Amino acid sequence: MTGPSTYTTRRVTVPQLEALLFRELPVLDHGFLRVVDYMGDDSSIVQAARVSYGVGTKTVREDKALIKYLMRNRHTSPFEMCEIKLHVKLPIFVARQWIRHRMASVNEYSARYSILDKEFYFPAPENVATQSQDNRQGRADPIPPEMAQQVLRIMREDAHRNYEHYLEFLGGSDREEKDFGISRELARINLTLNTYTQWYWKSDLHNLLGFLQLRADPHAQLEIREYAKTIMDVVRIWVPSAYEAFEEYRYGSVTLSRTEVSILRDLLVGKGISKLRAELTKRDWEKLAKIFGLG
Ligand SMILES: Cc1cc2nc3c(=O)[nH]c(=O)nc-3n(C[C@H](O)[C@H](O)[C@H](O)COP(=O)(O)OP(=O)(O)OC[C@H]3O[C@@H](n4cnc5c(N)ncnc54)[C@H](O)[C@@H]3O)c2cc1C
Repeated sequence: MTGPSTYTTRRVTVPQLEALLFRELPVLDHGFLRVVDYMGDDSSIVQAARVSYGVGTKTVREDKALIKYLMRNRHTSPFEMCEIKLHVKLPIFVARQWIRHRMASVNEYSARYSILDKEFYFPAPENVATQSQDNRQGRADPIPPEMAQQVLRIMREDAHRNYEHYLEFLGGSDREEKDFGISRELARINLTLNTYTQWYWKSDLHNLLGFLQLRADPHAQLEIREYAKTIMDVVRIWVPSAYEAFEEYRYGSVTLSRTEVSILRDLLVGKGISKLRAELTKRDWEKLAKIFGLG
């Protein structure tokens, strides 16, 4: 089949995202992300919401306000009306984290059927760091550069050696006398986790924002965060109002416990609240005042 043809459509489209379609957006050393297809835009969210709230006034400002309201109040189903399909090339260890997001449709390159490329991810030397003591899942300070180079050398040797064995297992190595000719599904099992794989990944906007909330967070592993950051750039272009609402009410927000609310209430009452009141919209002020019991 040849490349995509040009079509006209009566559906909503986003010109800036159309310009980005099929383009490889580089991530990590050999990875990429391509927007293959999408459905809907900000107006699709509003349109779906108005089915439940009824038709009414519809200026751009009001649409934005409605999207913010939906995001803030976790009225999530209108965001499910938008979908995006990505082609992603990513290291296997990143794919293992990514696949935990079950609310998506995935079709991965089959290493039972095809031969994996000789491409591996290696971290930049400054990202080779010690184990964090306060975050058991994270990294702390970079190790000295010469030590990082040693680590990277070992990583490279392991990846290349195992890949050579992979070819011998398959029966495609440079030295024929070492070829075994076993099946692809078995030959692959010794490959290192930094080998690149590829998949098509389709998600609706609601679940995509859930993915971004968790994977663009500083606590997520640096490598998957790189993909999440690139997707955030795409979402900002695709659905700018929803993205703005996401940044305001989810990505940039925090959840407080009952005790924390109680402490903050005391602090706010003690310090005076007029500045806070002046900076918020009436609705946001009323919501905050209710949470903190402010007059
Ligand atoms: C920093 C970090 C560290 C992590 N560490 C680990 C780890 O050590 N080990 C590990 O195994 N995982 C780990 N995870 C994965 C994590 O536990 C989640 O599986 C992953 O983030 C997917 O989140 P999710 O369930 O919200 O997304 P999705 O699977 O996409 O689900 C989205 C939403 O759909 C609904 N849903 C999905 N499936 C079901 C279901 N079966 N039943 C009911 N509702 C459902 C839920 O509302 C869910 O929130 C980690 C994640 C992060 C971000």
